[in-house]
Amino acid sequence: PESIPRQKPLKLPPNITQETFDVAITALEKVLIKQAVELNNKPLVDGWYMEHPNTHDAYHVIEQEEMVCSAVVYPSNASEVQSIVKWANEFKIPIYPISMGRNLGYGGAAPRVPGSVVVDLGRNMNKVLNIDEENASCMVEPGVSYFKLYEEVQKTGLPLWIDTPDLGGGSVLGNAIDRGVGYTPYGDHFANHCGMEIVLPNGELLRTGMGAIPGKDGADNPTWTCFQHAFGPSIDGIFSQSNFGIVTKMGFWLMPATEYQSYMITFPREDDFEKIVDIIRPLAVKRILGNVPQLRHAIQELAVTGKPRSHWYSGPGRVTREAIREGLKELPFGNISWVFYGTQYGDQASISSQLALIKVEFGKIPGSKFYLPSDVPADHYLHSRVQVCSGVPVLKELDWLNWKPNAAHLFFSPITPTKSKDARKIHTIIEKLHQNWGFDTFPTLCVAGREMHYIANIVYNRADPDEKSRARGLMREMISAAAKEGFGEYRTHLLFADQVAETYSWNDGALRKFNETIKDALDPNGILAPGRNGIWPRSYRDQGWEL
Ligand code: ADP
Repeated sequence: PESIPRQKPLKLPPNITQETFDVAITALEKVLIKQAVELNNKPLVDGWYMEHPNTHDAYHVIEQEEMVCSAVVYPSNASEVQSIVKWANEFKIPIYPISMGRNLGYGGAAPRVPGSVVVDLGRNMNKVLNIDEENASCMVEPGVSYFKLYEEVQKTGLPLWIDTPDLGGGSVLGNAIDRGVGYTPYGDHFANHCGMEIVLPNGELLRTGMGAIPGKDGADNPTWTCFQHAFGPSIDGIFSQSNFGIVTKMGFWLMPATEYQSYMITFPREDDFEKIVDIIRPLAVKRILGNVPQLRHAIQELAVTGKPRSHWYSGPGRVTREAIREGLKELPFGNISWVFYGTQYGDQASISSQLALIKVEFGKIPGSKFYLPSDVPADHYLHSRVQVCSGVPVLKELDWLNWKPNAAHLFFSPITPTKSKDARKIHTIIEKLHQNWGFDTFPTLCVAGREMHYIANIVYNRADPDEKSRARGLMREMISAAAKEGFGEYRTHLLFADQVAETYSWNDGALRKFNETIKDALDPNGILAPGRNGIWPRSYRDQGWEL
């Protein structure tokens, strides 16, 4: 599907004529040091993870040309971002900031309003500004990926770890403000940020936290990356998953390097699920599970080998339980249903005592088996978890994409309490609807403590319009079925943001009204990422934009 000539003309911003657009683009070029504006009029290329487009969503769930920008602009510093924002206000053209645009599965680089101008911050603003050894913290620009931060920390030779999500190519800053997760004890990325610098929709530059106090003689404040809350209302949160500002700098805490031990535990029966969840809960709440462990279904053991679906199953419909059982015979664990991937941290003595307890608890499930990395073959997925769980960015998870031709993925990500009844309810909804819509189910539960992020990975063929339409149908039905039971998503693809935002409707949509009040106050012209996370500025509301 790559490099097909464009079927449609350049997508203009809403209510902007070609003449106004041309004038605006000329004006935009003038406000930048480099003439850093590109029109989005060439063939769209999906590329691959490391060469992803900033013109559209590489993992399109609708027609590739639907969610496109009109142009991309590359600022070099915060002051240019301010100029771009002022320009957008002058011409009433919507802009859509991205850090790196590798948010694949949630919309990639696509703007919510087609024809917006994408502000690609990452290309020219990609420095690690500071690594503070004593304080174990850093300050980064939007274009710093996990790979880059990892390298820079390595170069210092300091005993410090970063925290990385499953794939290491994304922006550290972008992932944190989208409230993504990683897997070390610092896995909650937003919780481990400290200090932000933001360009507001009126062009003003703001620093949050202790950064609001000017440092001596114009220096950055020395406590900026030490203390999150500072004085007065804590406002950092409103700049995550929102459209209230463009984040140009962000501080993060780094983890002191430590000894650690990764492991996996397998469980033989589908019905062990309840017991597993109820054993996880106290261990997680007491923080004996020190990081963000994962519970996965056995079918993932097949998928992460990187072998295509056709290798395991060639019959009609979904991969059958029988085919999974047969496939597992090629792997070292025999017939299993669930796998728990964990890692313990600390000195050897504490790791041993933690593991002893964990083994006793999970050992209560008949037939469960405990493995260390040394027990499994060198190409087993556990070795990739060893890296991720010790802060080493990898690309292993891309092997999923061999499952189908032209594969892309889409995540359904509800939050479940770490309680067997609730987790079962959500799992049943997901399983049943995947069946109805004809998709294999790939559940991964990321354990944060009192709750788990249930990530259902829908893998679809993006060259097949029918599969895409079924993937959308499946998403919509899962969102509403989960909401009926009181469950909601922590994050979603931009196509489903309105529907998800609508489920947060308690007391006549009080939350939506509150968000709209802030939006209208900060962004009266509605130029910044209209519709992002279901927040629409006044001029767009009730105009048929909601999906
Ligand atoms: P990734 O970290 O995966 O490369 P993106 O750059 O695609 O992620 O960011 C994810 C989403 O977060 C974007 O689509 C955008 O809506 C928002 N976003 C990213 N960076 C910024 C930023 N610096 N300021 C404001 N919003 C941002």
